[in-house]
Amino acid sequence: MHSATSAEIPELVTPAIQHMQDIESSNQCEKKDKHCKGGDRESCQSEIFHSLDMLQRAICEFEENTQSNFIIHQKSKEFGKEDFKPNARSRIQWKSNDIQYGKLIKFSGIPYVVVGRKTLQCHLGRDFSIVKKKNYGDQRQITQGEDHTFTKRRRIIQHTKKMGCPAEINVLHIIRYPDFMIQSDTQKRRRNASKKVKEAFQSDTIQGNHAYVIRFPHLSEHKFHATSGELANLQEKVDRRVQEKVISLHRNGVRKINEMMRHINAFVTQELFPGDDPPVALRRRFYPTRKDLANLMFKAKQEGRNSSLDQENVLNQLKEWKEQIPQLNIFCRPNTTSEEMTNKQSFILCYQAE
Ligand SMILES: [Zn+2]
Repeated sequence: MHSATSAEIPELVTPAIQHMQDIESSNQCEKKDKHCKGGDRESCQSEIFHSLDMLQRAICEFEENTQSNFIIHQKSKEFGKEDFKPNARSRIQWKSNDIQYGKLIKFSGIPYVVVGRKTLQCHLGRDFSIVKKKNYGDQRQITQGEDHTFTKRRRIIQHTKKMGCPAEINVLHIIRYPDFMIQSDTQKRRRNASKKVKEAFQSDTIQGNHAYVIRFPHLSEHKFHATSGELANLQEKVDRRVQEKVISLHRNGVRKINEMMRHINAFVTQELFPGDDPPVALRRRFYPTRKDLANLMFKAKQEGRNSSLDQENVLNQLKEWKEQIPQLNIFCRPNTTSEEMTNKQSFILCYQAE
């Protein structure tokens, strides 16, 4: 069902064809949880998006449907910058040639320049911080040996969750110039069109379309870990929207884990999936463990300390009081988080009533 051509030329995959392919493949998938569509995208690995927002949404949807999580592995400096201006030195391309992204764009007659690249790797992928962890361990051994030094130790049974999975998502950010399209692929036509595009760069008269071409991995590209069933449910990371909800509930005074759990269950069923069957209860993405909740609440607590927003609220409140009761004596010095030690000031509030 998956044809090489449709995967390699995103331009040719029309939404209608894509939709039909999706329907076809989802009918073949036997699904226990309708929110876990597994290989729906298997039929069309490459897709093209015209904004960063749409790209981000598609990645989130892909992660949710395939019970996977991806983290940024590499990102070039200019990736996502839509004010990027190519110049005469920029390379005009007609199809992608490099190994990693080679299958993303086939010749379509439209010239483009590459703005940047981004690679995301499965969160159970290779452990790239292995050297850092080793150095940290060595350093601890050294300081432990010194006099009067005691480093608290924890017994860690599992050192890393990384499993060495090679699955990746590759994204190319390009600007396409359809006005300079060539009808057939000859060296001469390419050369002439490239020259015209570069001239247009210099006179700043060119209109280009930003596009993000993405390749999603097949489920079979995940290795050394489960991609479905109970284990996959447990390996999922907590959904970003659920994380934000926990933090906001904590700010609004929810402090008990049981209470937080009840709120989150209601949030998932009523706000994330209203009028729909909620996902199966074993999925950690939507139903975080007690430990997950405790960690998120701790994070919310840490972030709340010395918050500049809180200080601003206090200052506004003091100003209001002063207006209401002019004889009040109030002195307030906000906490400054200046880098220079000389300017560093802690928070002081003096309040003198009549
Ligand atoms: Zn994986």
